[in-house]
Amino acid sequence: MCIFCKIINKEIPAQTIYEDADTLAIADVNSQAPLHWLVIPKVHVENLTQAAPEQILACTRTIQHLTREKGVAEYRAVVNTGAAAGQTVPHLHFHILAGRALGWPPG
Ligand code: 5GP
Ligand code: ZN
Repeated sequence: MCIFCKIINKEIPAQTIYEDADTLAIADVNSQAPLHWLVIPKVHVENLTQAAPEQILACTRTIQHLTREKGVAEYRAVVNTGAAAGQTVPHLHFHILAGRALGWPPG
């Protein structure tokens, strides 16, 4: 079972920001900005290419809900797909980064 599935199953602790039937949002353990959340679909899927449209919609809905609720108007949403793009956990997740000026292009 992958590490995010273990977090979803509460086998590994995480700082939960938000949870609903389809998604979990947690604080990234290795935060890269003052605000760094991971928004994760509860059903395991490796990446954005493999995901069902409903899973992507559930994640983007959670991102909208959370950013509105927390008043986060400016942020970056990132999905790394594949090792060359920086993906290290093989379970789809959206990074949400905010709270500092974010450089572009990313490294
Ligand atoms: P990726 O490199 O796959 O795009 O992002 C994986 C992210 O998951 C990294 O930012 C990493 O810090 C985070 N991460 C890895 N393991 C854990 C964990 O056990 N708990 C939490 N909260 N974040 C994790
Ligand atoms: Zn998983």
